[in-house]
Amino acid sequence: MDCTQFRAAIEAIQSGQPGATACDQFRAHARSCPSCAETFAPYLSKTCSEITDFLADYFDGELDPKVRQVFDFHVNACRECRCYLDSYAATIRRAKECAAEQAPPPRALIDAILSARRAQK
Ligand SMILES: [Zn+2]
Ligand SMILES: [Zn+2]
Repeated sequence: MDCTQFRAAIEAIQSGQPGATACDQFRAHARSCPSCAETFAPYLSKTCSEITDFLADYFDGELDPKVRQVFDFHVNACRECRCYLDSYAATIRRAKECAAEQAPPPRALIDAILSARRAQK
Protein backbone atom coordinates (compact mmCIF):
# COMPACT_ATOMS: atom_id res chain seq x y z
CA MET A 1 0.00 0.00 0.00
CA ASP A 2 1.44 3.40 -0.93
CA CYS A 3 0.50 6.84 0.37
CA THR A 4 -2.05 7.48 -2.39
CA GLN A 5 -3.83 4.20 -1.77
CA PHE A 6 -3.67 4.80 1.96
CA ARG A 7 -5.28 8.23 1.68
CA ALA A 8 -7.86 7.04 -0.84
CA ALA A 9 -8.82 4.12 1.41
CA ILE A 10 -9.13 6.40 4.43
CA GLU A 11 -11.25 8.89 2.52
CA ALA A 12 -13.54 6.10 1.31
CA ILE A 13 -14.00 4.90 4.87
CA GLN A 14 -14.57 8.44 6.16
CA SER A 15 -17.34 8.86 3.61
CA GLY A 16 -19.02 5.79 5.05
CA GLN A 17 -18.06 3.06 2.61
CA PRO A 18 -17.12 -0.12 4.40
CA GLY A 19 -13.40 -0.57 4.08
CA ALA A 20 -11.99 -3.23 1.81
CA THR A 21 -8.71 -2.77 3.63
CA ALA A 22 -8.03 -4.46 6.93
CA CYS A 23 -6.87 -2.19 9.71
CA ASP A 24 -3.64 -4.21 9.81
CA GLN A 25 -2.79 -2.76 6.42
CA PHE A 26 -3.42 0.79 7.64
CA ARG A 27 -1.26 0.15 10.65
CA ALA A 28 1.46 -1.40 8.54
CA HIS A 29 1.56 1.64 6.27
CA ALA A 30 1.41 4.04 9.20
CA ARG A 31 4.39 2.27 10.75
CA SER A 32 6.46 2.65 7.61
CA CYS A 33 5.26 6.15 6.70
CA PRO A 34 5.61 8.85 9.36
CA SER A 35 3.76 11.54 7.41
CA CYS A 36 0.61 9.42 6.96
CA ALA A 37 0.91 8.20 10.52
CA GLU A 38 0.94 11.79 11.74
CA THR A 39 -1.94 12.94 9.53
CA PHE A 40 -4.17 10.04 10.49
CA ALA A 41 -2.91 9.41 14.00
CA PRO A 42 -6.31 9.99 15.61
CA TYR A 43 -7.87 7.34 13.43
CA LEU A 44 -5.15 4.83 14.01
CA SER A 45 -4.80 5.47 17.70
CA LYS A 46 -7.31 2.89 18.89
CA THR A 47 -6.81 -0.85 18.91
CA CYS A 48 -9.65 -3.34 18.38
CA SER A 49 -9.94 -4.06 22.08
CA GLU A 50 -10.12 -0.33 22.88
CA ILE A 51 -12.85 0.04 20.27
CA THR A 52 -14.91 -2.79 21.72
CA ASP A 53 -14.64 -1.08 25.13
CA PHE A 54 -16.60 1.83 23.61
CA LEU A 55 -19.48 -0.32 22.39
CA ALA A 56 -21.70 0.14 25.43
CA ASP A 57 -21.28 3.92 25.33
CA TYR A 58 -21.84 3.88 21.58
CA PHE A 59 -25.21 2.17 21.99
CA ASP A 60 -26.13 4.47 24.87
CA GLY A 61 -25.38 7.41 22.57
CA GLU A 62 -22.86 8.65 25.11
CA LEU A 63 -19.80 8.55 22.94
CA ASP A 64 -17.78 11.76 22.79
CA PRO A 65 -18.08 13.12 19.20
CA LYS A 66 -14.31 12.88 18.72
CA VAL A 67 -14.23 9.29 19.93
CA ARG A 68 -17.29 8.58 17.84
CA GLN A 69 -15.39 9.63 14.70
CA VAL A 70 -12.56 7.28 15.51
CA PHE A 71 -15.02 4.57 16.45
CA ASP A 72 -16.99 4.89 13.20
CA PHE A 73 -13.81 4.92 11.22
CA HIS A 74 -12.40 1.87 12.91
CA VAL A 75 -15.63 -0.09 12.65
CA ASN A 76 -15.86 0.76 8.96
CA ALA A 77 -12.27 -0.21 8.37
CA CYS A 78 -12.14 -3.32 10.51
CA ARG A 79 -14.19 -6.32 9.54
CA GLU A 80 -13.80 -8.01 12.90
CA CYS A 81 -15.03 -5.00 14.85
CA ARG A 82 -17.88 -4.55 12.40
CA CYS A 83 -18.99 -8.17 12.97
CA TYR A 84 -18.68 -7.64 16.69
CA LEU A 85 -20.75 -4.46 16.52
CA ASP A 86 -23.44 -6.24 14.49
CA SER A 87 -23.70 -9.11 16.94
CA TYR A 88 -23.74 -6.68 19.86
CA ALA A 89 -26.55 -4.73 18.18
CA ALA A 90 -28.48 -7.96 17.59
CA THR A 91 -28.07 -8.92 21.25
CA ILE A 92 -29.36 -5.56 22.41
CA ARG A 93 -32.31 -5.81 20.04
CA ARG A 94 -33.15 -9.28 21.36
CA ALA A 95 -32.81 -8.12 24.97
CA LYS A 96 -35.18 -5.23 24.27
CA GLU A 97 -37.70 -7.56 22.64
CA CYS A 98 -37.62 -9.85 25.69
CA ALA A 99 -38.05 -6.90 28.02
CA ALA A 100 -41.02 -5.72 25.98
CA GLU A 101 -42.63 -9.16 26.18
CA GLN A 102 -42.30 -9.20 29.92
CA ALA A 103 -43.57 -5.66 30.36
CA PRO A 104 -46.38 -5.36 32.92
CA PRO A 105 -49.87 -5.23 31.38
CA PRO A 106 -51.12 -1.72 30.70
CA ARG A 107 -53.01 -0.01 33.49
CA ALA A 108 -56.19 0.18 31.43
CA LEU A 109 -56.21 -3.60 31.02
CA ILE A 110 -55.81 -4.17 34.75
CA ASP A 111 -58.64 -1.74 35.50
CA ALA A 112 -60.88 -3.44 32.94
CA ILE A 113 -60.24 -6.87 34.49
CA LEU A 114 -60.81 -5.57 38.01
CA SER A 115 -64.06 -3.84 37.15
CA ALA A 116 -65.28 -6.92 35.27
CA ARG A 117 -64.60 -9.03 38.37
CA ARG A 118 -66.35 -6.49 40.55
CA ALA A 119 -69.33 -6.52 38.23
CA GLN A 120 -69.59 -10.31 38.55
CA LYS A 121 -70.08 -10.16 42.29
ZN1 LIG B 1 2.08 7.26 3.54
ZN1 LIG C 1 -10.92 -3.65 14.89
